Amino acid sequence: MEYVEHVVDLIGNTPLVRLNSVADGVAPLVLAKVEYVNPGGSVKDRIAERMIDAAEKSGELRPGGTIVEPTSGNTGVGLAMVAQRRGYNCVFVCPDKVSEDKRNVLKAYGARVVVCPTAVPPEHPDSYYNTSDRLVQEIEGAWKPNQYANPQNPVSHYETTGPELWRQTEGRITHFVAGVGTGGTISGTGRYLKEISDGRVKIIGADPEGSVYSGGSGRPYLVEGVGEDFWPDTYDRDIADEIIEISDADSFTMTRRLAREEALLVGGSCGMAAAAAIKLAERCGPDDVIVVLLPDGGRGYLSKVFNDRWMASYGFLPPEHSGATVGDVL
Ligand code: PMP
Repeated sequence: MEYVEHVVDLIGNTPLVRLNSVADGVAPLVLAKVEYVNPGGSVKDRIAERMIDAAEKSGELRPGGTIVEPTSGNTGVGLAMVAQRRGYNCVFVCPDKVSEDKRNVLKAYGARVVVCPTAVPPEHPDSYYNTSDRLVQEIEGAWKPNQYANPQNPVSHYETTGPELWRQTEGRITHFVAGVGTGGTISGTGRYLKEISDGRVKIIGADPEGSVYSGGSGRPYLVEGVGEDFWPDTYDRDIADEIIEISDADSFTMTRRLAREEALLVGGSCGMAAAAAIKLAERCGPDDVIVVLLPDGGRGYLSKVFNDRWMASYGFLPPEHSGATVGDVL
């Protein structure tokens, strides 16, 4: 019989899929590391498992304890899955702008969700960050993973994502492209690939226009999960050889192309990273092997990126667009 003991045993070892149509006309082989096949649907399953392992070892998380984290999405799902397996409770703090669907996903896994007002300054007692800090104080046995400062976040990629890519490409990877949110993916994977290749593999960050990683101040952009208005501890500022800035319009156009042309229904940050990978590919040669990491699936974005009215309201609909997609009234 072939089975695993629990769904969390399926985290990692995600496949590489060649990008065909969207990479048409570029010389290198462009491969996508498809992270939505993780059991929680995103790359964040990797860090959830590793952060919990380390907290158990250090004694910060004890049997029956409660995981408290400000997160509205992928990290919450990963933490909730691993917590359920190991008997911990979860309390996630979300700003009120997070959709009810997203909150319901976390609740479906058995987590408690506390909603905070978006329209208060960060120093307000009810703000997103202050609320999670207060809950950590109030709840007996609480532990906050803090994905923006937890060294296990990049370490999980150093120990899993990096070695997987080296093995899967038989050491032929020349460029690794990833969007930067906490910076855990690019820092951990990048460090592994640089070490094993003696610096040969180039590491390229993809960043929304306006975010700090590409020299901005955090001006609002719409792509989710990437870009910051501060420098997290989990981001290694020396790791990227280059940062490629991508506009929301280009990110979302590429996200839709990935679904329509490659049958990869993925999130907006995937389109952003893939757009950066194609820009890079345009100046690379036939011996180059570019791998771009696609962090999550597209189901969580049906009412945004894949909704024509939402796209049109921001002026993002690509000129070649025609026909019915999700969001059309037929
Ligand atoms: N895309 C999405 C959808 C994410 O949730 C995240 C994590 N914030 C990222 C990209 C960026 O990954 P990292 O935090 O490892 O930089």
